Amino acid sequence: MIRMNAHDRKYGTVICGAGIVGLTLARELVRKGHKSIAVIEKEDRAGTHASGRNSGVLHAGIYYSSDTLKARFCAQGNAAMKEFCRKKNLALLESGKVIVAKNPGEVPTVVELHRRAVANGASAKLITEKELASIEPEAKTCETALHSPGTAVVDPKQVVAAMVEDLASTGKVEFFFDTRVIGLGSGRAVDTGRGKFAFELFINAAGAYSDIIAHSHGVGAEYRLLPFKGTYKKIVPARAGMVKGNIYPVPNIKNPFLGVHFTKNTKGELYLGPTAIPAFARENYGLLAGLNGEFPGILYRDAMLFLLNPQFRSLAFEEPKKYISRYFYRSAKELVRRLEPADIEHAEKVGIRPQLVDWKKKQLVMDFMVVRKENCVHVLNSVSPAFTCSMPFAEHVVREYIL
Ligand SMILES: Cc1cc2nc3c(=O)[nH]c(=O)nc-3n(C[C@H](O)[C@H](O)[C@H](O)COP(=O)(O)OP(=O)(O)OC[C@H]3O[C@@H](n4cnc5c(N)ncnc54)[C@H](O)[C@@H]3O)c2cc1C
Repeated sequence: MIRMNAHDRKYGTVICGAGIVGLTLARELVRKGHKSIAVIEKEDRAGTHASGRNSGVLHAGIYYSSDTLKARFCAQGNAAMKEFCRKKNLALLESGKVIVAKNPGEVPTVVELHRRAVANGASAKLITEKELASIEPEAKTCETALHSPGTAVVDPKQVVAAMVEDLASTGKVEFFFDTRVIGLGSGRAVDTGRGKFAFELFINAAGAYSDIIAHSHGVGAEYRLLPFKGTYKKIVPARAGMVKGNIYPVPNIKNPFLGVHFTKNTKGELYLGPTAIPAFARENYGLLAGLNGEFPGILYRDAMLFLLNPQFRSLAFEEPKKYISRYFYRSAKELVRRLEPADIEHAEKVGIRPQLVDWKKKQLVMDFMVVRKENCVHVLNSVSPAFTCSMPFAEHVVREYIL
Protein backbone atom coordinates (compact mmCIF):
# COMPACT_ATOMS: atom_id res chain seq x y z
CA MET A 1 0.00 0.00 0.00
CA ILE A 2 1.20 3.50 -0.77
CA ARG A 3 1.12 6.11 1.98
CA MET A 4 2.16 9.71 1.52
CA ASN A 5 1.84 12.94 3.32
CA ALA A 6 0.04 15.58 1.38
CA HIS A 7 0.60 19.30 1.71
CA ASP A 8 -1.35 21.44 -0.69
CA ARG A 9 -1.03 19.15 -3.67
CA LYS A 10 -2.57 19.57 -7.12
CA TYR A 11 -4.15 16.84 -9.22
CA GLY A 12 -6.18 16.65 -12.39
CA THR A 13 -8.76 14.50 -10.57
CA VAL A 14 -9.28 13.91 -6.88
CA ILE A 15 -11.49 10.95 -5.92
CA CYS A 16 -12.79 10.65 -2.37
CA GLY A 17 -13.24 6.99 -1.37
CA ALA A 18 -11.30 3.82 -2.20
CA GLY A 19 -14.31 1.52 -2.35
CA ILE A 20 -15.22 -0.28 -5.56
CA VAL A 21 -16.94 2.84 -6.96
CA GLY A 22 -13.93 5.13 -6.45
CA LEU A 23 -11.54 2.47 -7.77
CA THR A 24 -13.50 1.63 -10.92
CA LEU A 25 -13.92 5.35 -11.64
CA ALA A 26 -10.15 5.82 -11.32
CA ARG A 27 -9.69 2.81 -13.63
CA GLU A 28 -12.06 4.24 -16.22
CA LEU A 29 -10.39 7.66 -16.12
CA VAL A 30 -6.97 6.05 -16.68
CA ARG A 31 -8.48 4.18 -19.64
CA LYS A 32 -9.67 7.50 -21.02
CA GLY A 33 -6.18 9.00 -20.75
CA HIS A 34 -6.30 10.89 -17.43
CA LYS A 35 -2.82 10.99 -15.96
CA SER A 36 -2.99 12.72 -12.62
CA ILE A 37 -5.44 11.12 -10.19
CA ALA A 38 -5.39 11.15 -6.38
CA VAL A 39 -7.58 8.68 -4.48
CA ILE A 40 -8.14 9.86 -0.92
CA GLU A 41 -9.28 7.31 1.63
CA LYS A 42 -9.81 7.86 5.36
CA GLU A 43 -9.00 4.25 6.27
CA ASP A 44 -5.58 2.59 6.10
CA ARG A 45 -6.58 0.44 3.10
CA ALA A 46 -9.11 0.18 0.29
CA GLY A 47 -12.40 -1.71 0.68
CA THR A 48 -12.69 -1.34 4.47
CA HIS A 49 -16.43 -0.65 4.32
CA ALA A 50 -19.22 -1.89 2.00
CA SER A 51 -16.85 -3.01 -0.77
CA GLY A 52 -14.96 -5.37 1.50
CA ARG A 53 -17.87 -6.50 3.65
CA ASN A 54 -20.44 -7.62 1.11
CA SER A 55 -21.59 -11.11 0.08
CA GLY A 56 -19.37 -11.08 -3.00
CA VAL A 57 -22.26 -12.11 -5.22
CA LEU A 58 -22.04 -11.05 -8.86
CA HIS A 59 -25.72 -10.58 -9.45
CA ALA A 60 -27.15 -11.48 -12.84
CA GLY A 61 -29.62 -8.58 -13.22
CA ILE A 62 -32.87 -10.22 -12.21
CA TYR A 63 -34.55 -8.00 -9.68
CA TYR A 64 -34.51 -4.51 -11.11
CA SER A 65 -37.17 -2.83 -13.21
CA SER A 66 -35.78 -2.18 -16.66
CA ASP A 67 -35.85 1.63 -16.40
CA THR A 68 -33.12 1.64 -13.73
CA LEU A 69 -29.35 2.02 -13.91
CA LYS A 70 -29.12 -1.16 -11.82
CA ALA A 71 -30.90 -3.09 -14.57
CA ARG A 72 -28.84 -1.44 -17.30
CA PHE A 73 -25.46 -2.34 -15.81
CA CYS A 74 -25.93 -5.52 -13.78
CA ALA A 75 -25.59 -8.20 -16.48
CA GLN A 76 -22.77 -6.24 -18.14
CA GLY A 77 -21.04 -5.69 -14.78
CA ASN A 78 -21.35 -9.38 -13.93
CA ALA A 79 -19.55 -10.28 -17.19
CA ALA A 80 -16.89 -7.57 -16.77
CA MET A 81 -16.10 -8.56 -13.17
CA LYS A 82 -15.87 -12.24 -14.14
CA GLU A 83 -13.43 -11.33 -16.91
CA PHE A 84 -11.36 -9.23 -14.47
CA CYS A 85 -11.19 -12.14 -12.01
CA ARG A 86 -10.18 -14.62 -14.71
CA LYS A 87 -7.50 -12.28 -16.04
CA LYS A 88 -6.07 -11.64 -12.58
CA ASN A 89 -6.43 -15.25 -11.44
CA LEU A 90 -8.75 -14.27 -8.59
CA ALA A 91 -11.20 -16.64 -6.95
CA LEU A 92 -14.41 -16.94 -8.98
CA LEU A 93 -17.13 -19.42 -8.12
CA GLU A 94 -19.55 -19.75 -11.02
CA SER A 95 -22.10 -21.50 -8.88
CA GLY A 96 -25.42 -20.01 -10.06
CA LYS A 97 -28.41 -19.27 -7.90
CA VAL A 98 -32.00 -20.26 -7.34
CA ILE A 99 -34.85 -18.11 -6.05
CA VAL A 100 -37.45 -20.24 -4.30
CA ALA A 101 -41.09 -19.59 -3.38
CA LYS A 102 -42.31 -20.33 0.13
CA ASN A 103 -46.01 -20.52 -0.79
CA PRO A 104 -48.39 -20.08 -3.77
CA GLY A 105 -48.70 -16.38 -2.94
CA GLU A 106 -45.06 -15.86 -3.96
CA VAL A 107 -45.33 -17.59 -7.33
CA PRO A 108 -46.51 -14.46 -9.25
CA THR A 109 -43.40 -12.63 -8.00
CA VAL A 110 -41.18 -15.48 -9.25
CA VAL A 111 -42.84 -15.09 -12.66
CA GLU A 112 -42.41 -11.30 -12.52
CA LEU A 113 -38.71 -11.74 -11.64
CA HIS A 114 -38.33 -13.99 -14.69
CA ARG A 115 -39.95 -11.31 -16.85
CA ARG A 116 -37.59 -8.68 -15.46
CA ALA A 117 -34.56 -10.94 -15.96
CA VAL A 118 -35.44 -11.43 -19.63
CA ALA A 119 -36.00 -7.68 -20.08
CA ASN A 120 -32.62 -6.97 -18.45
CA GLY A 121 -30.68 -9.44 -20.59
CA ALA A 122 -29.97 -11.81 -17.70
CA SER A 123 -30.08 -15.53 -18.36
CA ALA A 124 -32.72 -17.01 -16.05
CA LYS A 125 -35.17 -19.88 -16.35
CA LEU A 126 -38.34 -20.87 -14.55
CA ILE A 127 -37.81 -24.43 -13.33
CA THR A 128 -39.95 -27.18 -11.82
CA GLU A 129 -39.49 -28.63 -8.34
CA LYS A 130 -37.88 -31.67 -9.99
CA GLU A 131 -35.39 -29.53 -11.91
CA LEU A 132 -34.64 -27.62 -8.69
CA ALA A 133 -33.78 -30.92 -6.98
CA SER A 134 -31.10 -31.61 -9.58
CA ILE A 135 -29.54 -28.14 -9.07
CA GLU A 136 -29.89 -27.68 -5.30
CA PRO A 137 -31.11 -30.96 -3.76
CA GLU A 138 -31.74 -29.38 -0.34
CA ALA A 139 -33.69 -26.36 -1.63
CA LYS A 140 -37.47 -26.40 -1.45
CA THR A 141 -39.97 -24.37 -3.40
CA CYS A 142 -43.66 -24.14 -4.11
CA GLU A 143 -44.62 -24.99 -7.74
CA THR A 144 -41.73 -23.22 -9.46
CA ALA A 145 -38.36 -21.57 -8.85
CA LEU A 146 -36.11 -19.26 -10.82
CA HIS A 147 -32.67 -20.51 -11.82
CA SER A 148 -29.93 -18.01 -12.64
CA PRO A 149 -26.88 -19.88 -13.96
CA GLY A 150 -24.90 -16.64 -14.44
CA THR A 151 -24.80 -15.62 -10.78
CA ALA A 152 -21.29 -16.05 -9.41
CA VAL A 153 -19.34 -15.36 -6.23
CA VAL A 154 -16.01 -13.56 -5.85
CA ASP A 155 -13.86 -12.56 -2.89
CA PRO A 156 -14.55 -8.81 -2.79
CA LYS A 157 -11.40 -8.03 -0.77
CA GLN A 158 -9.28 -9.79 -3.40
CA VAL A 159 -10.97 -7.83 -6.18
CA VAL A 160 -10.39 -4.50 -4.42
CA ALA A 161 -6.74 -5.32 -3.64
CA ALA A 162 -6.06 -6.36 -7.25
CA MET A 163 -7.61 -3.15 -8.52
CA VAL A 164 -5.50 -0.98 -6.18
CA GLU A 165 -2.36 -2.78 -7.33
CA ASP A 166 -3.30 -2.31 -10.98
CA LEU A 167 -4.04 1.39 -10.54
CA ALA A 168 -0.87 2.10 -8.56
CA SER A 169 1.20 0.31 -11.21
CA THR A 170 0.01 2.71 -13.93
CA GLY A 171 1.94 5.56 -12.28
CA LYS A 172 -1.11 7.74 -12.96
CA VAL A 173 -2.94 7.14 -9.70
CA GLU A 174 -1.67 7.98 -6.20
CA PHE A 175 -3.38 6.67 -3.08
CA PHE A 176 -3.55 8.69 0.12
CA PHE A 177 -4.70 6.43 2.94
CA ASP A 178 -5.46 7.58 6.49
CA THR A 179 -6.55 10.85 4.90
CA ARG A 180 -10.04 12.17 5.48
CA VAL A 181 -11.82 14.62 3.17
CA ILE A 182 -13.29 17.25 5.46
CA GLY A 183 -15.21 19.35 2.95
CA LEU A 184 -15.32 20.75 -0.53
CA GLY A 185 -15.69 24.43 0.16
CA SER A 186 -14.90 26.53 -2.90
CA GLY A 187 -15.08 23.64 -5.37
CA ARG A 188 -11.45 24.13 -6.50
CA ALA A 189 -9.69 22.35 -3.64
CA VAL A 190 -10.62 19.86 -1.02
CA ASP A 191 -9.64 20.12 2.65
CA THR A 192 -8.27 16.99 4.24
CA GLY A 193 -6.67 16.13 7.56
CA ARG A 194 -3.36 16.31 5.66
CA GLY A 195 -3.65 19.61 3.85
CA LYS A 196 -5.44 20.83 0.75
CA PHE A 197 -5.69 18.99 -2.54
CA ALA A 198 -6.37 21.28 -5.49
CA PHE A 199 -8.16 19.69 -8.45
CA GLU A 200 -9.69 20.27 -11.85
CA LEU A 201 -12.25 17.53 -11.27
CA PHE A 202 -13.50 16.09 -7.98
CA ILE A 203 -15.41 12.82 -7.61
CA ASN A 204 -17.31 12.03 -4.45
CA ALA A 205 -17.35 8.22 -4.08
CA ALA A 206 -17.51 8.29 -0.30
CA GLY A 207 -20.18 5.58 0.10
CA ALA A 208 -21.88 6.03 3.47
CA TYR A 209 -20.58 9.62 3.74
CA SER A 210 -21.31 10.73 0.19
CA ASP A 211 -24.37 12.76 1.26
CA ILE A 212 -22.29 14.73 3.77
CA ILE A 213 -19.59 15.51 1.20
CA ALA A 214 -22.30 16.52 -1.31
CA HIS A 215 -23.98 18.77 1.26
CA SER A 216 -20.64 20.52 1.86
CA HIS A 217 -20.81 21.47 -1.84
CA GLY A 218 -24.44 22.58 -1.74
CA VAL A 219 -25.65 19.41 -3.51
CA GLY A 220 -28.49 17.06 -2.53
CA ALA A 221 -29.74 18.92 0.53
CA GLU A 222 -33.00 16.94 0.38
CA TYR A 223 -31.19 13.57 0.47
CA ARG A 224 -29.89 11.71 3.52
CA LEU A 225 -28.21 8.33 3.79
CA LEU A 226 -29.61 6.00 6.41
CA PRO A 227 -27.49 3.02 7.47
CA PHE A 228 -28.86 -0.54 7.50
CA LYS A 229 -26.85 -3.23 9.22
CA GLY A 230 -26.35 -6.55 7.47
CA THR A 231 -25.40 -9.30 9.89
CA TYR A 232 -24.57 -12.84 8.81
CA LYS A 233 -24.50 -16.28 10.36
CA LYS A 234 -22.51 -19.27 9.21
CA ILE A 235 -23.42 -22.91 8.64
CA VAL A 236 -21.12 -25.22 10.58
CA PRO A 237 -18.39 -26.60 8.26
CA ALA A 238 -19.66 -30.19 8.52
CA ARG A 239 -23.01 -29.09 7.02
CA ALA A 240 -21.70 -26.54 4.48
CA GLY A 241 -22.19 -29.11 1.69
CA MET A 242 -25.97 -28.80 1.99
CA VAL A 243 -25.93 -25.86 -0.49
CA LYS A 244 -23.93 -25.86 -3.71
CA GLY A 245 -24.33 -22.22 -4.76
CA ASN A 246 -26.82 -19.59 -3.71
CA ILE A 247 -30.39 -20.00 -2.48
CA TYR A 248 -32.47 -16.83 -2.22
CA PRO A 249 -36.03 -16.19 -1.06
CA VAL A 250 -38.58 -14.27 -3.11
CA PRO A 251 -38.03 -10.66 -2.00
CA ASN A 252 -40.53 -7.90 -1.55
CA ILE A 253 -39.64 -6.15 -4.82
CA LYS A 254 -40.70 -2.80 -3.43
CA ASN A 255 -37.80 -3.01 -0.94
CA PRO A 256 -34.14 -2.54 -1.81
CA PHE A 257 -33.04 -5.66 0.13
CA LEU A 258 -33.15 -9.27 -1.04
CA GLY A 259 -33.89 -11.17 2.18
CA VAL A 260 -31.74 -13.61 4.16
CA HIS A 261 -30.15 -16.09 1.76
CA PHE A 262 -27.57 -18.88 1.59
CA THR A 263 -24.31 -17.99 -0.16
CA LYS A 264 -21.39 -20.35 -0.60
CA ASN A 265 -18.26 -18.19 -0.67
CA THR A 266 -15.08 -18.79 -2.65
CA LYS A 267 -13.51 -20.64 0.31
CA GLY A 268 -16.40 -23.12 0.46
CA GLU A 269 -17.91 -21.54 3.60
CA LEU A 270 -21.68 -21.30 3.70
CA TYR A 271 -23.08 -17.99 4.96
CA LEU A 272 -26.62 -16.99 5.80
CA GLY A 273 -27.65 -13.37 5.60
CA PRO A 274 -27.46 -10.46 5.45
CA THR A 275 -30.20 -8.88 7.49
CA ALA A 276 -31.18 -5.25 6.84
CA ILE A 277 -31.65 -3.82 10.31
CA PRO A 278 -31.69 -0.04 10.83
CA ALA A 279 -28.27 0.91 12.30
CA PHE A 280 -27.60 3.97 14.43
CA ALA A 281 -24.39 5.18 12.79
CA ARG A 282 -22.77 4.87 9.39
CA GLU A 283 -20.10 2.52 10.76
CA ASN A 284 -22.04 0.99 13.67
CA TYR A 285 -20.75 -2.55 13.05
CA GLY A 286 -21.14 -3.79 16.63
CA LEU A 287 -24.00 -3.21 19.04
CA LEU A 288 -22.38 -0.02 20.32
CA ALA A 289 -19.18 0.09 18.23
CA GLY A 290 -19.09 3.00 15.81
CA LEU A 291 -21.82 5.01 17.55
CA ASN A 292 -21.14 8.73 17.41
CA GLY A 293 -22.85 12.13 17.61
CA GLU A 294 -25.02 11.26 14.60
CA PHE A 295 -26.98 8.75 16.65
CA PRO A 296 -29.87 11.09 17.68
CA GLY A 297 -30.29 12.43 14.11
CA ILE A 298 -30.39 8.93 12.60
CA LEU A 299 -32.81 7.75 15.27
CA TYR A 300 -35.06 10.75 14.54
CA ARG A 301 -35.03 10.03 10.79
CA ASP A 302 -35.74 6.33 11.38
CA ALA A 303 -38.66 7.30 13.63
CA MET A 304 -40.07 9.77 11.06
CA LEU A 305 -39.84 7.22 8.27
CA PHE A 306 -41.43 4.64 10.52
CA LEU A 307 -44.39 6.95 11.03
CA LEU A 308 -44.72 8.26 7.47
CA ASN A 309 -43.58 5.48 5.15
CA PRO A 310 -45.41 2.12 5.25
CA GLN A 311 -42.61 0.44 3.25
CA PHE A 312 -40.04 1.44 5.88
CA ARG A 313 -42.46 0.48 8.67
CA SER A 314 -42.77 -3.08 7.35
CA LEU A 315 -38.96 -3.34 7.10
CA ALA A 316 -38.57 -1.97 10.62
CA PHE A 317 -41.04 -4.54 11.95
CA GLU A 318 -39.67 -7.55 10.07
CA GLU A 319 -35.91 -7.13 10.03
CA PRO A 320 -34.98 -6.51 13.71
CA LYS A 321 -36.68 -9.81 14.61
CA LYS A 322 -33.81 -11.49 12.80
CA TYR A 323 -31.50 -10.38 15.61
CA ILE A 324 -33.30 -13.11 17.54
CA SER A 325 -31.76 -16.46 16.54
CA ARG A 326 -35.15 -18.18 16.47
CA TYR A 327 -36.50 -15.81 13.77
CA PHE A 328 -33.29 -15.87 11.77
CA TYR A 329 -33.40 -19.67 11.84
CA ARG A 330 -37.07 -19.68 10.86
CA SER A 331 -36.53 -17.52 7.74
CA ALA A 332 -33.54 -19.66 6.67
CA LYS A 333 -35.45 -22.90 7.29
CA GLU A 334 -38.10 -21.83 4.79
CA LEU A 335 -35.56 -22.16 1.96
CA VAL A 336 -34.22 -25.68 2.58
CA ARG A 337 -35.51 -29.11 3.52
CA ARG A 338 -33.31 -29.85 6.50
CA LEU A 339 -31.82 -27.24 8.77
CA GLU A 340 -31.36 -27.63 12.50
CA PRO A 341 -30.64 -24.74 14.88
CA ALA A 342 -27.33 -26.51 15.68
CA ASP A 343 -26.30 -26.13 12.00
CA ILE A 344 -26.04 -22.36 12.45
CA GLU A 345 -23.15 -20.66 14.19
CA HIS A 346 -22.13 -17.10 14.94
CA ALA A 347 -20.27 -15.19 12.20
CA GLU A 348 -18.12 -12.10 12.67
CA LYS A 349 -19.07 -10.85 9.21
CA VAL A 350 -21.15 -7.68 9.22
CA GLY A 351 -21.63 -4.86 6.72
CA ILE A 352 -23.54 -1.59 6.56
CA ARG A 353 -25.68 -0.65 3.60
CA PRO A 354 -26.18 3.09 3.34
CA GLN A 355 -29.58 3.72 1.78
CA LEU A 356 -30.48 7.11 0.30
CA VAL A 357 -33.75 8.65 1.42
CA ASP A 358 -35.49 11.51 -0.36
CA TRP A 359 -36.31 13.43 2.77
CA LYS A 360 -38.88 15.72 1.14
CA LYS A 361 -40.89 12.75 -0.12
CA LYS A 362 -39.91 10.44 2.80
CA GLN A 363 -39.15 7.76 0.20
CA LEU A 364 -36.24 5.35 -0.17
CA VAL A 365 -34.36 6.03 -3.43
CA MET A 366 -34.26 2.74 -5.31
CA ASP A 367 -31.59 3.43 -7.95
CA PHE A 368 -28.02 4.76 -8.15
CA MET A 369 -27.90 8.55 -8.23
CA VAL A 370 -25.25 10.79 -9.78
CA VAL A 371 -25.24 14.60 -9.61
CA ARG A 372 -22.75 16.95 -11.24
CA LYS A 373 -22.33 20.51 -10.03
CA GLU A 374 -19.58 22.63 -11.57
CA ASN A 375 -16.44 20.49 -11.67
CA CYS A 376 -17.61 18.01 -9.00
CA VAL A 377 -19.43 14.72 -9.53
CA HIS A 378 -21.26 13.12 -6.62
CA VAL A 379 -22.22 9.43 -6.58
CA LEU A 380 -24.98 9.43 -4.01
CA ASN A 381 -26.63 6.04 -3.73
CA SER A 382 -24.19 3.21 -4.46
CA VAL A 383 -26.56 0.57 -3.13
CA SER A 384 -26.43 -3.12 -3.98
CA PRO A 385 -25.65 -4.34 -6.64
CA ALA A 386 -23.14 -1.50 -7.10
CA PHE A 387 -20.27 -3.95 -6.58
CA THR A 388 -21.50 -6.05 -9.53
CA CYS A 389 -22.36 -3.02 -11.67
CA SER A 390 -19.23 -1.03 -10.84
CA MET A 391 -17.29 -1.30 -14.11
CA PRO A 392 -20.01 -0.37 -16.64
CA PHE A 393 -21.44 2.09 -14.11
CA ALA A 394 -18.04 3.84 -13.97
CA GLU A 395 -17.99 3.95 -17.79
CA HIS A 396 -21.44 5.54 -17.71
CA VAL A 397 -20.45 8.15 -15.10
CA VAL A 398 -17.31 9.10 -17.02
CA ARG A 399 -19.16 9.24 -20.36
CA GLU A 400 -22.25 11.12 -19.16
CA TYR A 401 -20.89 13.35 -16.39
CA ILE A 402 -17.19 13.90 -17.09
CA LEU A 403 -16.10 13.76 -20.71
C1 LIG B 1 -23.80 -6.58 3.79
C2 LIG B 1 -23.69 -6.19 2.35
C3 LIG B 1 -23.89 -7.13 1.35
C4 LIG B 1 -23.79 -6.75 0.02
N1 LIG B 1 -23.84 -7.71 -0.96
C5 LIG B 1 -23.58 -7.36 -2.24
C6 LIG B 1 -23.45 -8.37 -3.23
O1 LIG B 1 -23.48 -9.56 -2.94
N2 LIG B 1 -23.26 -7.97 -4.53
C7 LIG B 1 -23.18 -6.65 -4.89
O2 LIG B 1 -23.04 -6.36 -6.08
N3 LIG B 1 -23.29 -5.68 -3.95
C8 LIG B 1 -23.45 -6.01 -2.64
N4 LIG B 1 -23.50 -5.05 -1.67
C9 LIG B 1 -23.40 -3.64 -2.08
C10 LIG B 1 -21.97 -3.23 -2.38
O3 LIG B 1 -21.07 -3.73 -1.43
C11 LIG B 1 -21.92 -1.71 -2.43
O4 LIG B 1 -22.91 -1.28 -3.31
C12 LIG B 1 -20.58 -1.18 -2.90
O5 LIG B 1 -19.52 -1.80 -2.21
C13 LIG B 1 -20.52 0.34 -2.70
O6 LIG B 1 -19.21 0.76 -3.00
P1 LIG B 1 -18.71 2.21 -2.64
O7 LIG B 1 -17.35 2.33 -3.21
O8 LIG B 1 -19.72 3.21 -3.06
O9 LIG B 1 -18.71 2.28 -1.04
P2 LIG B 1 -17.61 1.85 0.03
O10 LIG B 1 -17.04 0.54 -0.26
O11 LIG B 1 -18.23 2.05 1.36
O12 LIG B 1 -16.45 2.90 -0.18
C14 LIG B 1 -16.53 4.24 0.21
C15 LIG B 1 -15.18 4.61 0.78
O13 LIG B 1 -15.15 6.02 1.04
C16 LIG B 1 -14.38 6.22 2.20
N5 LIG B 1 -14.73 7.53 2.77
C17 LIG B 1 -15.95 7.91 3.25
N6 LIG B 1 -15.90 9.17 3.69
C18 LIG B 1 -14.64 9.61 3.45
C19 LIG B 1 -13.98 10.85 3.69
N7 LIG B 1 -14.61 11.88 4.23
N8 LIG B 1 -12.67 10.96 3.34
C20 LIG B 1 -12.00 9.91 2.77
N9 LIG B 1 -12.58 8.72 2.55
C21 LIG B 1 -13.89 8.57 2.86
C22 LIG B 1 -14.77 5.07 3.09
O14 LIG B 1 -13.83 4.83 4.13
C23 LIG B 1 -14.89 3.93 2.11
O15 LIG B 1 -13.69 3.19 2.01
C24 LIG B 1 -23.57 -5.39 -0.32
C25 LIG B 1 -23.38 -4.45 0.69
C26 LIG B 1 -23.40 -4.84 2.02
C27 LIG B 1 -23.11 -3.83 3.09
